[in-house]
Amino acid sequence: CGIVGYIGKRDSQSILIEGLKKLEYRGYDSAGIAVFTEQGLVVKKSKGRLAVLEEKLTGAPLEGSVGIGHTRWATHGKPSDENSHPHTDNSFKFSVVHNGIVENYLELKEELMMDGHKFVSETDTEVISHLVASEYDGDIVKAVQRAVKRMRGAFALGVLTEYEPDRLVAVRFASPLVIGIGEGENFIGSDIPAILEHTRDVYILNDGEMAILTRGGVELMTTEGEIISKEIFRVDWDL
Ligand code: GLU
Repeated sequence: CGIVGYIGKRDSQSILIEGLKKLEYRGYDSAGIAVFTEQGLVVKKSKGRLAVLEEKLTGAPLEGSVGIGHTRWATHGKPSDENSHPHTDNSFKFSVVHNGIVENYLELKEELMMDGHKFVSETDTEVISHLVASEYDGDIVKAVQRAVKRMRGAFALGVLTEYEPDRLVAVRFASPLVIGIGEGENFIGSDIPAILEHTRDVYILNDGEMAILTRGGVELMTTEGEIISKEIFRVDWDL
């Protein structure tokens, strides 16, 4: 129901949690974050309010300057720790947050299971992390493009892979997503309030568009891989 993401030099955990708080009004039943730590990509998530997740992180914070976060409004699978986002693949090298619905997830899930993928949740979203992993051959952008081509439905995605820890990939298709442009840091969010504390310069993604964020910049393209340019939208209002 809400997505945030950060790539920069600062501690990502607090930026993700504060961003998710700003999205609370959208309603949710679970929350979670994934951060690149010295131990690799680590996920912490739980059913319930953000305070439950914060409690879990107290004493065992995730330290790292790249991460994604999510608040969930369950559509496929009950609210539970396992069904919460971020979702990963079996290698734990890929992590995905998703808003929306993958309509053909059962079909994709069956196909992936035949190929040996093991699923731990009942969600449509977990299919995306496995699909991206199976499409991966060294370039996360291409893997996401190929995965998205196979998905029907509505989605806003934030994707990380441990193989490319300096990139955060975001995609929009019929679920809202904005990109915040900072200095030496960049952001994604389901809406502007989630990132407004950090920047007023945003790109509003349209359907079928994606953004590749690094610390130094943001590249925009269609999900077909065609590079696009967009006007920066300057937010002139306050919360
Ligand atoms: N369909 C996904 C799920 O049920 C995402 C729901 C959402 O947008 O929060 O996990």
